[in-house]
Amino acid sequence: MPYSVSPIGFVRSCFKEKFAIPRQPQLAPAARGVLELIAPFDNGEAVQGLEQVSHVWLLFLFHQALEDKPRLKVRPPRLGGNQSVGVFSTRATHRPNGIGQSVVKLDKVEPGKLWLSGIDLLDGTPVLDIKPYVPYADSLPDAYNRIADSTPALISVTWQDDALIQANSHSQRLTEPLVELIEQCLAQDPRPAYQKPAPERRYGARFWDVDVHWHYPQPGSICVLDVLLAD
Ligand code: SAM
Repeated sequence: MPYSVSPIGFVRSCFKEKFAIPRQPQLAPAARGVLELIAPFDNGEAVQGLEQVSHVWLLFLFHQALEDKPRLKVRPPRLGGNQSVGVFSTRATHRPNGIGQSVVKLDKVEPGKLWLSGIDLLDGTPVLDIKPYVPYADSLPDAYNRIADSTPALISVTWQDDALIQANSHSQRLTEPLVELIEQCLAQDPRPAYQKPAPERRYGARFWDVDVHWHYPQPGSICVLDVLLAD
């Protein structure tokens, strides 16, 4: 029997497209956004008490990955994109009911608005619920996951001189830590693992209102080429 759920708000995020979003929260602390609550939850009563909480769980819809036909097996990027495992052993976006969950830092609370960082959420993501992180119950020192047993390896990120000047200037205009955001996201190596990019191949993604381009001068390192205001 179907049940229906409705968003309580939507995320305004630094990530304007799926590519280059970190694969989990907390991997890019400079990734920021605002959860804008909708009526009746935009009333300050709904968030009263949250100022005593450092992190929250967000339950949300992968609204740009919803599918009619449920998948039983998926190929997580974590395993290189060519090994399939049961959908319930992964945090893949393509999953029954399309529900995601992320622990994010709660930087500021206002009636109708939560300022967040360390997010892995696309701009416009519909949020279904907010729950406070409860350290004594949610942090499990003995827990293990042999599919994803440690934080992903980072690759080195360097800048062309002009690109760094552009990024610093947009950072000041946006009053956002844009250089850190780009470095933290690209260090995760957003490229699918099976791609072996030639040095001349350019990759790009949009953060806030700027388009960032980079290439792989050699395997295992990224160089940022330009950071330009999007059209
Ligand atoms: N932390 C969440 C979880 O475990 O349920 C999300 C993990 S999922 C592997 C992270 C990826 O979801 C990001 O890299 C991004 O590409 C994608 N994503 C984020 N928001 C999305 C949305 N609203 N619709 C579709 N894909 C989204």
